[in-house]
Amino acid sequence: MEPILRKTSRASLLQLLFFLLSITQLFNLTKSSTEIISRFQQYLRINTAQPYPNYSQSTQFIVSQAKTLGLESETIEFVKGKPVVLLKWPGKTPNLPSILLNSHTDVVPAEHHKWVHPPFQAHLDQDGNLFARGSQDMKCVGLQYLEAIRGLKESGFKPDRTVYLSFVPDEEIGGHDGAERFAESDKFQSMNVGIVLDEGLASPDENYRVFYAERCPWWLVIKATGAPGHGSKLYDNSAMENLLKSIESIRRFRAAQFDMVKAGLKAEGEVVSVNMVFLKAGTPSPTEGVEGHLSLGFVMNLQPSEAEAGFDIRVPPTTDPEYLEKRLAEEWAPSSRNMTFQLGQFKHKVPVHDKFGKPAVTATDNSNPWYSLLEEAVKKADGKVGKPEIFPASTDARYFRHRGLPAIGFSPMANTPILLHDHNEFLNQAEYLKGIKIYESIIKTYASFIGYSRDEESRAEL
Ligand SMILES: [Zn+2]
Repeated sequence: MEPILRKTSRASLLQLLFFLLSITQLFNLTKSSTEIISRFQQYLRINTAQPYPNYSQSTQFIVSQAKTLGLESETIEFVKGKPVVLLKWPGKTPNLPSILLNSHTDVVPAEHHKWVHPPFQAHLDQDGNLFARGSQDMKCVGLQYLEAIRGLKESGFKPDRTVYLSFVPDEEIGGHDGAERFAESDKFQSMNVGIVLDEGLASPDENYRVFYAERCPWWLVIKATGAPGHGSKLYDNSAMENLLKSIESIRRFRAAQFDMVKAGLKAEGEVVSVNMVFLKAGTPSPTEGVEGHLSLGFVMNLQPSEAEAGFDIRVPPTTDPEYLEKRLAEEWAPSSRNMTFQLGQFKHKVPVHDKFGKPAVTATDNSNPWYSLLEEAVKKADGKVGKPEIFPASTDARYFRHRGLPAIGFSPMANTPILLHDHNEFLNQAEYLKGIKIYESIIKTYASFIGYSRDEESRAEL
């Protein structure tokens, strides 16, 4: 009996040890998760809302994080008060093109009273949802890059390629003093970037969304002029009548584009979207407030001599811009109807093509190894990637694509409602933590990829 007893007690001792070990592991895991979430909250609590983003505080925070990770950091102000924070994890083979992980530090403003939890408190509710402006767009991504690097460093991983992280200002107001200046700078040139990762969108289903291009904003103002006349008279070529004909024509085009989306023939990013955003016409009433008159603010018995309408148009890189401009000149604002238009004088007018004259599109086929590597890496970390899409709005990625560089838009948020720029923007903490693992896998795959692609070679020759 004795030997059996001894065996049993040894077994239970082992069991106990094992149990204690897993408890400690679990404790450490919970502890580190709590720390990760708390760092995310710290970043979210910094109010970087436009138009007065607190960039000095966000810069301080990022630089302090870089220090704890042993990353080199540099703060560059291409425009005073608009810092680009650049972090560097040097690779073992520094002559290989580098990897750039980009994120913007600013967020859009929030209407505080419409939020369940204050937008800069980073409140974590019972379900693990973190409510904050920037939780999806895109402080999550910026910090997930850093957390992924923390994880990789702890595991002893050393990159072959140099990994850069850029935290850029002003994306929400066009990125002209941030990513645009950065992408055009000598500094950027010297970094020899081979691939850029930038923001994507949340996905309501289990597939992560990946973006390989984006639509370009065209802001259009059409103006009609015509003879003024009495409000009771029917005559041709009044400004209002001419403007309305144009609006009807544009509206038909809009409906046809939207029908293709509704029928499932095209994705949102593949059609030209047109939305009317203002109407300006009428003769202000001098009788306003005068006794006996109904105060409408406009003269009611006069047909005005000028009328204007403004449109926000988004053009996919697959659309021929000349075709659209022709349509504009011939149908939407024809001079035969005394119409004029303004397009391209706006700071947001962005060319559909890159500086080499090619559509600003990142390949998702065999010609671009970075795309398949990303797909592979996400799969390896238990994630799924949906069909690549064209981003419906604009991101900083366009400035990198404009240089002819591949740029992929990707924010790992699956099973999450799309709440960027919306009230009560939130991200679930489990989804955030999973995203870190996804980035660990991507960064590891990218940074150890030493195959020198044909694409990189041809770029090196330029
Ligand atoms: Zn964004």
